[in-house]
Formats: sequence, structure tokens, C-alpha cells
Amino acid sequence: MMDGSDTPRNAANLVLLGPPGAGKGTQARMLEEQFGLVQLSTGDLLRAAVAAGTEAGRAAKAVMEAGDLVSDEIVIAILRDRLAEPDCAKGVILDGFPRTTVQAEALDGLLAEIGQGIRAAISLEVDDAAMVTRISGRYTCGGCGEGYHDTFKVPSKPGACDKCGGTEMKRRADDNAETVEQRLRAYHAQTAPLISYYESRGVLARVDAMAEIEAVARELNAIVAKAVA
Ligand code: ADP
Ligand code: ADP
Ligand code: ZN
Repeated sequence: MMDGSDTPRNAANLVLLGPPGAGKGTQARMLEEQFGLVQLSTGDLLRAAVAAGTEAGRAAKAVMEAGDLVSDEIVIAILRDRLAEPDCAKGVILDGFPRTTVQAEALDGLLAEIGQGIRAAISLEVDDAAMVTRISGRYTCGGCGEGYHDTFKVPSKPGACDKCGGTEMKRRADDNAETVEQRLRAYHAQTAPLISYYESRGVLARVDAMAEIEAVARELNAIVAKAVA
């Protein structure tokens, strides 16, 4: 069932697993361009819901600021709605979802309903010690969402986005040293078990995500090229 044999050729669904700051968003955006897939980040969808002041956003705001996981019910509902949009039919790169076993099972159910499955779940493996530096230096272009880092990914023209030229850069409310600790605890307690969930289904690949962004991208490209073939 999970080997993708009954999945339409044009719908390759991938999961990126890894702790906060592992590089999921950075790599998902590169894979999106490379393979014509759609990046689907529940963190981005939740931040949009918070900004829009929807009911889900109001419930999620304080939980996110504390570094805890938003309830499965809310996140699964948001994901289900987004997956139903037509652009997702070409295949999605899930970034930050699933984060619990309940979410992983719900995802399998949602995909099974449309005759699809997960082609590959890729675990970005990093040391906890590196995460605080990655997260406290992270910022994003407000215009196009491109991600940057104070040390590891600096725009070629200081203060201006390489992708869109925008100059409004944003930092996340939860990207601070205190919240990172709680986010890492939540990752180890609730999300790390998904590595064996996908391993037992025969779709797991592991990548050393302590390497430089471009080196990680090369490893991922090779894995994804095989998974979508
Ligand atoms: P995630 O989506 O997993 O939380 P991001 O992709 O946002 O992680 O990356 C976190 C921060 O670390 C960003 O500022 C990004 O530019 C930077 N980063 C991503 N991958 C690497 C890497 N391999 N080496 C160093 N810094 C990285
Ligand atoms: P990161 O890139 O640092 O891993 P995300 O942007 O994916 O962070 O998520 C930010 C916050 O949004 C999480 O700390 C959590 O509160 C909430 N969140 C995002 N995705 C999920 C999910 N699948 N389940 C529960 N909470 C989530
Ligand atoms: Zn930009």
C-alpha cells in the first residue's frame, strides 16, 4: 500500500521531518522549484490564520508562542482544506506536518481517499546544539517568504531579498532562545517517533542536515528524483 504503486504518476507526496531549524522550509522551497511540487507548511498556514484572526488562529496563537504543538484537530482541519485545493494534485512537500502519530495516521487516511500515499519521508538529522543558533539568526522576506540567516544565508545585497528585491524582512515571534527549548522538547516527545513510523512503512530516508545548505540540497535532490520517478 505504502510503496506508491497505486499512486498516480504525477502525484508524488513527500514528507520532510526534522526539528525546528533543521532546514525543512529552506529545502522545501528549493525542491518546489526543482520538481514542480507544492510546499505545504502548516506553520505558515497557522501564522496566516493568526494574522487573519480566524477562530483557529485565535486558538493557536498562545500555543505557538509557548513553543507547544497546536491541537491535532485544528492542524488536521487546516491541512485537509489546503490539500483539497487543485494545485496540490501535482504532489506536495509537507513541511512541518505531520508532527504527531495522530496526524500521520490522518494524513494516510486523507491520501488513501484519493488513491495516493507518501512516496518518501525524509528525516533531516541535526544536533540539538546547533538549533538555537539556526533559529535565533533566522529571518524571512516579507514580500516572497524567502528564508535567510544572519550568518548562514545572507542576501547578496545587504537588506534586499535575492528573489524579489523586497526590503521588508521579518522575524518570527517564537524564534527566541526560550521558546526553542520547548519546541525541541515537543519535537523529541511527539514528532521524533514518526521516524520509525515511516521506517516501518519502508519510505524513510535520512539526510545529514548539519552540512551546508547546498550539500543538503544535493543529497535531497537525489532522494527526491528517485521518489518521483
Ligand atoms: P525549519 O523550516 O526546519 O524550521 P529553516 O529552513 O527555516 O528550518 O532554517 C532555519 C534557519 O537556518 C534559517 O535561517 C536558514 O537560513 C538556516 N539554515 C537552513 N539550512 C541550513 C544549513 N544546512 N546550514 C546552516 N543554516 C541553515
Ligand atoms: P519550525 O519551522 O521552526 O519547525 P513551524 O513553522 O513548522 O516551525 O511551526 C511553528 C509552530 O506552529 C510550532 O511550534 C507549532 O506551535 C505550530 N505547528 C506547526 N505545524 C504544526 C503541526 N503539524 N502540529 C502542531 N503544531 C504545529
Ligand atoms: Zn523576497
